[in-house]
Amino acid sequence: KLIVFEGIEGGGKTTQIQRTCQWLRDQLGSSAPAILTTKEPGGTTLGRSLRKILLDSRSEEPIAPTAELLLFASDRAQHVETFLKPHLKQGAIILCDRFTDSTIAYQGFGRGLDKDLIQQLNHIATAGLESDLTLWFDLEVEKGLARTQTRGEMDRMEKADLAFHQRVNQGFCELADQASDRIIRIDANLSLEQVSAQIQSILKQYLLK
Ligand code: C5P
Ligand code: MG
Repeated sequence: KLIVFEGIEGGGKTTQIQRTCQWLRDQLGSSAPAILTTKEPGGTTLGRSLRKILLDSRSEEPIAPTAELLLFASDRAQHVETFLKPHLKQGAIILCDRFTDSTIAYQGFGRGLDKDLIQQLNHIATAGLESDLTLWFDLEVEKGLARTQTRGEMDRMEKADLAFHQRVNQGFCELADQASDRIIRIDANLSLEQVSAQIQSILKQYLLK
């Protein structure tokens, strides 16, 4: 099963993925399938190189939006082919930090690139692989950005202006409305424990029934 965590910056996705991984291991015991965590960009060796390029905030040359789109797509193609597909085939449960919806939200809604083109590119990069479930961390944009500002130096994407991040959040919101069976909203404005509780209750229905 592929379970994807999506949403804007500073919503606590990374922390919740670690907590969810531990919780699932406790729930399922040692006979369970492998429970793995991974992320985009940066789930493979190639992906980690691409991530450095994509997030470098000191580069003198701005990255053109289409170049950015294709770099995220390259990261995804490598991740799907060499990590996600082989592990899913062996029955793993994979918790993945970001996937195709981030590309629609950031490069489509955020950068204004053509959304049909991005859908096609997503389809090429994933070879048709889709998430089984996507948890969308919805939170106030200002709150998320404030959290990234306390984490040390901000990356290239985090440094984008508030309006950009608002378009991205609106993008996630529209995606969630369109695909309400696949994308489930998590209220990420709440406390760490309350967010974990929401995730656990959804996964109990979905995985542990
Ligand atoms: O969530 P994480 O910080 O690992 O994501 C890396 C960065 O890449 C984020 O700042 C996010 O804004 C950006 N990103 C993007 N387009 C994607 C995926 C991630 O701009 N398709
Ligand atoms: Mg970030």
